[in-house]
Amino acid sequence: MTFKKTQQAGYAATIVAAALSFMAPIFAYAQEVVVYSSRTEHLIKPVFEAFTQDTGIKVSYLTGKDNALIERVKAEGERTPADVLMTVDAGNLWYAASQGLFQPMNAPQVEKAVPAHLRDPKGLWSGLSIRARTIVYSTERVRPEELSTYEALAEPQWKDRLCLRTSKKVYNKSLVAALLAHNGEAATAKMLAGWVDNLAAAPMAKDSQVMEAILAGQCDVGIVNTYYFGRLQQEKPDAPLKLFWANQNTTGAHVNVSGAGVLKHAKHVEAANRLLDWLASDRAQELFAALNKEFSVNPQVPVDAIVYSWGDFKQDQLGLERIGALQNEAVTLMQRANYR
Ligand code: FE
Repeated sequence: MTFKKTQQAGYAATIVAAALSFMAPIFAYAQEVVVYSSRTEHLIKPVFEAFTQDTGIKVSYLTGKDNALIERVKAEGERTPADVLMTVDAGNLWYAASQGLFQPMNAPQVEKAVPAHLRDPKGLWSGLSIRARTIVYSTERVRPEELSTYEALAEPQWKDRLCLRTSKKVYNKSLVAALLAHNGEAATAKMLAGWVDNLAAAPMAKDSQVMEAILAGQCDVGIVNTYYFGRLQQEKPDAPLKLFWANQNTTGAHVNVSGAGVLKHAKHVEAANRLLDWLASDRAQELFAALNKEFSVNPQVPVDAIVYSWGDFKQDQLGLERIGALQNEAVTLMQRANYR
């Protein structure tokens, strides 16, 4: 894929100003849509305001943690006020689908704009922005030529030099599920044992802590989602840390999505589909992806300047639905390898 660059701040400010003036309560909204979102408020509010501005449909939303929102939808059953569940990681979307929480989308723009491997084959959910999970390294202690693949981080040369986030985080479950799909059980188990052997510290709670540990000299390499690196770069442009696109000569770097689906018991089905379709549009993608330093699902849409500076890379084309289906097996392998 190739990426175009954009100046996001000015656009976002215009949208917000326009939405605020529009929101003067003169008329009642003709339609409404209710969203449960694990994507945080500052990332969705400007997007929903732009949607209301474009369509006249009001968006009400509730934010919370992935698991809590999914459990809430389950508990509310038919009485749920929610129309759309918006969450991060295909693992969570797949789990919500497996619990029967979604209905098939009727969103032609989603089908047109979002590549098939980033959507559920049955149309129950779709990715709406892309993040890669790749290698990050100290530019002071690692030469990029020493790096190649996720699998190679299990080699003895990285003994006591690797930092990882906890295996309990869905991002790592999905990454390991992808590697399991590519390499099979035996090779994945061996890789996980190597990773654990190479850890310089106990697995960490957050991707940002992995990067801080590298900066502090505790370890030399780690694996993080790209937008966390983008945030760090924005705060500390001179930090001696770089991204390395993993598996460029093999399967491609692991990518995952933030995404959404229409809930089975939605009361505003038409407005919910309209929101998903709109989110897949070029205008929405530019805002939705750039606000979190992510990649658009549509490679033609410009990305944030920092994201652009990372350059082009080969993405893993593995279907995300497959990654979801292999989560449990991945968790078992991580537990067996004593990866906490
Ligand atoms: Fe995250």
